[in-house]
Amino acid sequence: MAHVISDECVSCGACAATCPVSAISEGADKYVVDADTCIDCGACEGVCPTGAVKAE
Ligand code: SF4
Repeated sequence: MAHVISDECVSCGACAATCPVSAISEGADKYVVDADTCIDCGACEGVCPTGAVKAE
C-alpha cells in the first residue's frame, strides 16, 4: 500500500516537502510517490491544495 497522486496535481511541491521519507518527487506532468519508499503515513494528504493525494 502507498499513497498515489492523481491528475488533479498542479505540481506545487507541498507534498514532497512534507514527506518524512522523501518518497515524493517531481514527474513529467505531476508529482509521483515511490510506492516502495512510502510508509503510508498520510502527511502529504493533508497539505495538498487540490486534494490530489489519495490513499490507495
Ligand atoms: Fe510520504 Fe507519508 Fe505521503 Fe507516503 S503517505 S508519500 S510516506 S508523506
